[in-house]
Amino acid sequence: MAAEVYFIAPKQISSRTLEKVFARTRFLEQFTLKDRLALKVHFGEKNNYNHLAPEYVKMIIEIIKKSQLKVSVVETSSLYRGARQNRTAHLKLAIEHGFSEEYLNAPIEILDGERGEEYFEVPTPFTSVKKAKLARGLQNFSGIVNLAHFKGHFVVGFGGALKNIAMGLAAKGGKLEMHSETKLSIKEVKCQKCKKCLEVCPAQAILITETSSLITNKCVGCACCVEVCPIGAIKINWDSASETTQVRMAEYVWAILQNRRAIHFNFAIKITPNCDCMDFTEDPMMPDIGLFASLDPVACDNAVWEQVHIAIRNLYPQLNPEIILEYSEKIGLGTRKYKLIEIKDEE
Ligand code: SF4
Ligand code: SF4
Repeated sequence: MAAEVYFIAPKQISSRTLEKVFARTRFLEQFTLKDRLALKVHFGEKNNYNHLAPEYVKMIIEIIKKSQLKVSVVETSSLYRGARQNRTAHLKLAIEHGFSEEYLNAPIEILDGERGEEYFEVPTPFTSVKKAKLARGLQNFSGIVNLAHFKGHFVVGFGGALKNIAMGLAAKGGKLEMHSETKLSIKEVKCQKCKKCLEVCPAQAILITETSSLITNKCVGCACCVEVCPIGAIKINWDSASETTQVRMAEYVWAILQNRRAIHFNFAIKITPNCDCMDFTEDPMMPDIGLFASLDPVACDNAVWEQVHIAIRNLYPQLNPEIILEYSEKIGLGTRKYKLIEIKDEE
């Protein structure tokens, strides 16, 4: 059966049209006053201003609050070094990008601790991801409002609703598992032997001696050491095959959606070649398309993909970005078949 995907043209995105989407999906009616909703947003890396506008986030919070439900804006820290690599820096950047608790009238929570060290594991039936490492704070939420900015991505082709929660609600170790084929390693010539990494390693997996700096096979892949190393000597192998990353992202979405209901939004606005994790602001690669929303994350991503696939394939001819859509459908996350329903302000 085809999933319903709601579409709002760029100039029609307003509190009224967003409220109509919530009414048509009846998403909020599934929750009781005891439930908490996690509104997943990407605040954008430093110097990147193509992230989702805080005004949209505020509109959606106001709609949720009309139903008396509790909502928090949530994120996790990045795997790579940058302005979002730990909770303190990340919250500061969120404010700089217009996402303050005062403005949004909702708490902002970084769900995986100060350094990404707080996670819980969800066993899966898959062979690629056997236990997904999810941000521990996610356990407090029974619903997810997934607000994704749709754009290109140099590893997987595009980033939409599936990627926004897969990467965005995994702890650092989960992000590492999706991005990397191997464990971490230390660049011995760079290491200054300060031993800061030893203090955070939960597995006593790091060996720093006068003659060598090593990560042993005791490593559990939590990635906490990456954040504390002051000189970036701990190396991530970013060469994971695109196909592997896409498959693992789908498996992480499966784990995230166990016992959790979600609604997914793809803002196909300011569609840039690269993701909001880049520390620069790119020009959009095409005119704005609008907003797509659905209870089905596969249909929601596929509806935008069908509008942008020529441009994305031209940009990344070496990638097959449809792997995540095909595999997500195969493992039961949703369907690529959809019915597009336009929502207008005046109706
Ligand atoms: S060496 Fe492995 S287990 Fe230790 S902090 Fe680094 S990633 Fe985590
Ligand atoms: S934190 Fe970095 S520089 Fe310090 S000992 Fe560990 S790897 Fe070497």
